Amino acid sequence: MGAGLSLLYRNLAVGLGVLYVLLFGISYSVGRRLRRQVRLNQYMAEHDALTDLPNRELFHQRAEAELQRGAGMGVATMIAIIDLDRFKEINDTLGHPNGDQLLIALGARLREQLGGPDALARLGGDEFGVLLSDVDEPELMLQQLRRAIEEEINIDHLPLSVEASFGYVVAPEQGTDVDTLMQLADVAMYTAKSRHLGVVRYHESQSHYNASNLALVAELRHAIDVNELVLYYQPKVRVSDGRIDAVEALVRWQHPDKGLVYPDDFIALAEQTDLIDRLTTWVMKRTLEDLKNFGPGARDLTVSVNVSARNLGRAGFAATVVDALNTAGVAPERLFIEVTETTLMTDPDRAAVVLSDLDRGGVRLSIDDFGTGQTSLGYLSTLPIHELKIDRSFITDMMEHAAHATIVHSIIVLGHNLGFSVVAEGVETAEVLFDLTATGCDVAQGYFFTRPMPADELAPWLTRYKPLDTVPASS
Ligand code: C2E
Ligand code: MG
Ligand code: MG
Repeated sequence: MGAGLSLLYRNLAVGLGVLYVLLFGISYSVGRRLRRQVRLNQYMAEHDALTDLPNRELFHQRAEAELQRGAGMGVATMIAIIDLDRFKEINDTLGHPNGDQLLIALGARLREQLGGPDALARLGGDEFGVLLSDVDEPELMLQQLRRAIEEEINIDHLPLSVEASFGYVVAPEQGTDVDTLMQLADVAMYTAKSRHLGVVRYHESQSHYNASNLALVAELRHAIDVNELVLYYQPKVRVSDGRIDAVEALVRWQHPDKGLVYPDDFIALAEQTDLIDRLTTWVMKRTLEDLKNFGPGARDLTVSVNVSARNLGRAGFAATVVDALNTAGVAPERLFIEVTETTLMTDPDRAAVVLSDLDRGGVRLSIDDFGTGQTSLGYLSTLPIHELKIDRSFITDMMEHAAHATIVHSIIVLGHNLGFSVVAEGVETAEVLFDLTATGCDVAQGYFFTRPMPADELAPWLTRYKPLDTVPASS
């Protein structure tokens, strides 16, 4: 009995020992696999899958570390943003897979020039970042990178030459905060791009930046995240019968301290940075959502969204718009994109490409603030435009200024001859509306009918609205 018991104990002990070794082995290998997985996840979170370069997040972290290190050693740090020119055309003509190949190849070239990936990142789309400390001649160094990008490259057996625009800043001289420095580099890059200057160092004269505006940009970035932006809508009235089949979305910022801030006070700032992309995307999505809630009388209502030059300059802008329409389940014909005449002229070739992409997607196009810029009529007649909006500076005072009335009448005739619908914005009085009715203007928009109103007020307003009460009969 005693011997049996001790045998049992021994077997039990051996069994437990074996079990322990087994469990240890399993837990060790699971642990190792987990650690490997964690490392892999971390790598993926910090790198761009296409080019295998560090991504924006890692670049940001490294820039912060580099700025600190630079400050400790008393050396300058340079941050540059590189944006490829006409990448969208390449993507569109050669297809996305080839566009991807191009990005991979250019990423590899930059890496080679910089002796490794540490100073480099793909910030997104066709944008790369470069971070270097203690460089004697940053401008020369970046020129060299630019030449490396421009060297002919073979994609799908096609020799291509790509150009790029560079903007850069130098810390601590021009700032010490990474977000601010990136914004300034972005402003410089945009200057380089719009003026075809190649490599440009940030200078105050390029932007509306000063300390308080910079703070505002940071606040605006946050405002988009926490939904402080709000959309107001202003109806567009059909002059012939007073009916409303369209509204324009106008953004405002419900600022926690300043109250309602108008777009003239923040759009230009947003346009100086990539913030305008997020703002426009937000406006687009919200508008398409709102459109579904404007009540039974609004089933065929179209909606206009204002878009900036910088949006048109982004690769894939038209695709983003089409995506937003698909996601919201809204027919493309219900969306008008308004671009100002000045926007068109920022880069007319580029605008023509994007507008025709949008047109192919079924979206309708409107030229805003017409009459203030210098569009050539030849150019205008080649664009797939549906609507011309006469700038309100001509409309509001046309009864007092004969020259303005003449301009308005001429634009109406011109627009009709080119096959566009003509809209007058800034209609404030019955006299102006009467004149517009007599001269055959198609659509009127202005305080005479109503000021822009919050989304939830539009449905009841539309229900109350009586066309025949407001539109004076034409003579
Ligand atoms: P816009 O697109 O030409 O819009 C018309 C502006 O005229 C609006 O000003 C509107 O409130 C105002 N308005 C309408 N009727 C009358 C009137 O009878 N009299 C007068 N004096 N003004 C009238 P708002 O909302 O302050 O917008 C100003 C500009 O800001 C817009 O001009 C547009 O260029 C820009 N904007 C507005 N929302 C957005 C947006 O979501 N994205 C972009 N990129 N720009 C926007
Ligand atoms: Mg507009
Ligand atoms: Mg306008």
